[in-house]
Amino acid sequence: MTLTPLPAPNPIRYDNSAHSAMACMRKAQYLLALGIQSNSSAEMIFGSAVHRVLECIAKGYTHPADLPESEPNLPLNPDDPLENITPLVEDARSRYSLTSLQFPKFKLLVEDLALNADLRIPTPITLVHGRPAIEYKFTVKCHDFDFCGTIDCLGLEDLGGVPHLMLTDYKATTSKYPTDYLRDYKLKSQLPFYMYMLQNYGSQFLPSKYVGLPLAARIRGIFYECSPFDFRDSEIMFYTPTIAKQIYDIIQQGITYLGTIHAMTRDDVLAPKWGMATGACYRCSYDTICRMNDEVREREHIAKTPRSAYNPLTFR
Ligand code: SF4
Repeated sequence: MTLTPLPAPNPIRYDNSAHSAMACMRKAQYLLALGIQSNSSAEMIFGSAVHRVLECIAKGYTHPADLPESEPNLPLNPDDPLENITPLVEDARSRYSLTSLQFPKFKLLVEDLALNADLRIPTPITLVHGRPAIEYKFTVKCHDFDFCGTIDCLGLEDLGGVPHLMLTDYKATTSKYPTDYLRDYKLKSQLPFYMYMLQNYGSQFLPSKYVGLPLAARIRGIFYECSPFDFRDSEIMFYTPTIAKQIYDIIQQGITYLGTIHAMTRDDVLAPKWGMATGACYRCSYDTICRMNDEVREREHIAKTPRSAYNPLTFR
């Protein structure tokens, strides 16, 4: 029996989303090492469009196509913010292929965000060249990996009389249960992962006056299937020694795990279908390949499938 060899593995980029791929070794191999991309869900597409609008409003750009990083911000018209809506909406529509079903709701949401920008968007700190810390992408080297991520908004907030570097992560979601949704975030690695990066690598990408400040983070939920729209924050998560230890342990295990996946791919070995044991196969976008249950066919399929290196910095 002749087996089609696996393609050479990509260099692995380790962001927080890589954790969910690690629920199954085969899934991690497909996505992170081989770069077989899965399709974005409608909710993810909507979320990306919302992030784009928030970025434009926060940076003060009313014509997103011209959004230059180095130019002074152009403030939204304070008398009538709705005058600025059309270019924002059209920019998001053309970039993200919103469906006709999504579009009316998206437009209403953009109106709300523009009208209530002061309430919805925290004030960011300023990075080098006067750039606001909005949708801030970072990459840092760690051993064989690149750690990377996109911080939605990084601000400075006084908490109990102490200035904290405050990370806000927006979640635009179809959930109609804001309390349950926000409570679940206490058991997700995302906020600790970003705070770990700020604590341990912040000196590589932050102005020095912010390095070493106490850290805190929150989710800002945008519940767009609620009527009216519901905007709510999670409880603030502080970067305590316990949280720091928990995320350190997760990342250490993650590094070992990804090293194993990378080595297996390099050695032309398909990783175990671990999702069959853990339940991760439910709604997995790679199920078509895995259902073949035939290594010859699976390898042929992998060889023919378009691939591109996993790069979280291009997600939106
Ligand atoms: S279908 Fe199951 S075994 Fe296959 S990659 Fe997905 S989670 Fe893993």
